[in-house]
Amino acid sequence: MTRLVLLGGGHAHLFVLEAFARDRPDAEILLITPDALTPYSGMLPGVIAGHYRHRQTCIDLRPLAAKAGCALRLDAAVALDAAHRQLQLASGEIVGYDLLSIDTGSTPAIPDIPGAAQHGHPVKPVATLLESWRTAAPPESVAVIGAGAAGVEIALALRHRAPGARCTLIDRSAQILDRQPERLQRLALNELARQRIDLLTGAQIARLDPHAVLLADGLRVASDFAVWTTGAAPANWLRDSGLALDGRGFIATDPTLQSLSHPEVFAAGDVATMADAPRPKSGVYAVRAGPPLAANLLRAVRGEALQRWQPQARALMIMACGRRNAIASRGGLCVQGDWVWRWKDRIDRAFVRRFDPRADQD
Ligand SMILES: Cc1cc2nc3c(=O)[nH]c(=O)nc-3n(C[C@H](O)[C@H](O)[C@H](O)COP(=O)(O)OP(=O)(O)OC[C@H]3O[C@@H](n4cnc5c(N)ncnc54)[C@H](O)[C@@H]3O)c2cc1C
Repeated sequence: MTRLVLLGGGHAHLFVLEAFARDRPDAEILLITPDALTPYSGMLPGVIAGHYRHRQTCIDLRPLAAKAGCALRLDAAVALDAAHRQLQLASGEIVGYDLLSIDTGSTPAIPDIPGAAQHGHPVKPVATLLESWRTAAPPESVAVIGAGAAGVEIALALRHRAPGARCTLIDRSAQILDRQPERLQRLALNELARQRIDLLTGAQIARLDPHAVLLADGLRVASDFAVWTTGAAPANWLRDSGLALDGRGFIATDPTLQSLSHPEVFAAGDVATMADAPRPKSGVYAVRAGPPLAANLLRAVRGEALQRWQPQARALMIMACGRRNAIASRGGLCVQGDWVWRWKDRIDRAFVRRFDPRADQD
């Protein structure tokens, strides 16, 4: 019988599990992921701001896997030998596969500077960040490093949660939300100013201390709690896997979501880049890849021809502003308001409820 391994409980694999519950493939299926509760990171700023409990923003993979006839192993891959079709897990176990589907996401790209790992908290894994925040002494100052959409949201969320703390958002680019529409940048800048968040752009970080971020020009930014929200980076273990990677180290796939080098390996979400249609590392694309991934995995198990898929060119982005207010942007059209927050709240809760009706109740 075909052995299909799903690696990572990411967004795309939620749809795969959902589809397998309806149409079960004739295969031995194993999901390997470190935590039974997989977080929906779009709601993380809301957890930090205090609008949600962490559990409300997580999907329990156990019932989903059970309905899909899929065994669940709580572990993480630390190496992949694509030539021999073997994964090595953190527990030391070696797992072989006939078909592998990877949806392990990404982590912030943290520069190799003194103190970066010891004194800074990566925004992912989400559970680790929340635990660090929960156990830290109430900060007098916080710093968020990386002013993309996630960084702006986290800075505004921290401001909402710790209104008395000094809050600084730092980026090496000359402007925030690089490559985003100008109107979105302007609305976000206004919101940061309104909420007294200090903004440092064009800033080169030289070192992190326990209570400060030191810049290359000598400036010292007070920070009792620093969060890395720098752009997405791939996991190190992909480097020696033998899989074809893109220029940044993400798995290069074709429109069938198969690896360019190893057709028995599929990949979707942040961990993958479709060679012909690269898209930003954003949850929207991981979600959209879910149904075509599920369909192609089913076809691969049955030995049928696979179908090609093209991700949409533009996506709706909604940035929460700490308070119950948000900014939405799509293709240059930007709006802000409390109703936008309520809209996002409805979308996010519905997503979690679709896969875990108990999330809101537990
Ligand atoms: C603060 C914040 C806010 C965001 N807001 C939005 C938003 O509003 N809209 C949007 O579109 N995007 C948003 N994003 C981006 C979005 O979170 C990611 O693009 C999305 O999570 C990617 O989905 P994924 O399925 O690729 O991976 P993930 O959702 O990250 O899931 C990866 C899964 O793989 C598991 N895993 C990781 N490593 C291993 C391993 N070695 N072995 C086994 N399992 C592993 C993880 O535990 C996790 O379950 C936000 C990101 C952040 C940080």
